[in-house]
Amino acid sequence: MIYSHSRLDSYRQCPLKFKFRYIDMLPSELEGIEAFMGSRVHEVLQKLYTDLRFCKTASLEPLIELYQQLWEKAWHENVRIVKEELAPEDYFALGKRCIEDYYHRYKPFNQSRTLGIEHPVQFSLDPEGKYVMKGFIDRLSQPKDHVIWIHDYKTKGFLPTQTELDEDRQLAYYQMAISQLWPETKEVELVWHFLIFDQEIHSRRSPEELETLREETIALIREIESATDFPAKQSGLCNWCEYQQHCPLFKHLYDTASLSENEYLGEEGIGLAEKLITLQSKEELLKAEIAKLKAALWDYAQKKGIEVVFTKNHKVRIKVYDNIRFPGRNDPGRSALENLIREKGKWEEVSYLDVFALSKVLQAGGWDAELVEKIKQLGTPDSSLWIKAFPRNTRGAWK
Ligand code: SF4
Repeated sequence: MIYSHSRLDSYRQCPLKFKFRYIDMLPSELEGIEAFMGSRVHEVLQKLYTDLRFCKTASLEPLIELYQQLWEKAWHENVRIVKEELAPEDYFALGKRCIEDYYHRYKPFNQSRTLGIEHPVQFSLDPEGKYVMKGFIDRLSQPKDHVIWIHDYKTKGFLPTQTELDEDRQLAYYQMAISQLWPETKEVELVWHFLIFDQEIHSRRSPEELETLREETIALIREIESATDFPAKQSGLCNWCEYQQHCPLFKHLYDTASLSENEYLGEEGIGLAEKLITLQSKEELLKAEIAKLKAALWDYAQKKGIEVVFTKNHKVRIKVYDNIRFPGRNDPGRSALENLIREKGKWEEVSYLDVFALSKVLQAGGWDAELVEKIKQLGTPDSSLWIKAFPRNTRGAWK
């Protein structure tokens, strides 16, 4: 398999989504409107720079007309708008403003000589050519001899910080490609155009940073190629995931969306879940009731000077145990307490292994593989059922 930044990022974001898209090759007609708008803006900028190659500087108006034509031609019924308060016209206007701002900022577009537009690159992460990556660079340009700028147009609705961009992988991969394709290049600069914010941000990568990224990427590819389990990883990005109808976290919503009211009420899973929710709310009420009864019994016992109340078949013991409440793990004073016990050499007597935390650490990965294997051999494979009800707003909501 040839990898790309988006493939690897898809795995990092959610292994199940990666499986749906790249292993099962599930078709998806859904397209987020943000991606739809971004594609149209990219196409317009592509046209702008293609014309500039032939010394034609398009004026703004025809570019906006082109944007409108491309938008109308590409529009399809499966463009999804997640933000319900916005309409297609709002996104169209946003994309138009991106083009206008870009045009006014860079006209006459002579900041650097364009070397490539939507430039395809393929490069190897290892000398043997086992781990190959490919991608498309939005624009490659040369501000002066032996210096190359790698441009990327972004229509994201948030502006990343400089630190986040200094750690960005996508353009760093392209830098690796450029270094292989044009080894005489002395300097490579990564340039993002955040079009919604009319911002241009630059970053550079040192050979050491690229080497670290290369090693991390090979390790990630090896992990992907040896993976047998592709778990669903829920995040805010699920709202834009085109595979929701296949995902176990959302499938039921889709399966029941077209049921009639009667079918909906008679659906087995909905019936079971409703029963559980009713019982759980009764359980909460019972807990509150029990707490009140305990307090009343305590008052009664105090009043009567007794410690046991007898009923026909039971006796109820009422007693107060004196205790000291110590600060919890995140409470103030916790580290002072722990430090004192450690200093006095008593830590081993009161500490114990948190096996829940251990399981979580092993699941998250990151520990030495040999150690993890040894630890796993000391445990027993097990699974436990976890069911919890959460409130949700409406039957049709994505979230
Ligand atoms: S909806 Fe979320 S959890 Fe499910 S496959 Fe898509 S990204 Fe993964």
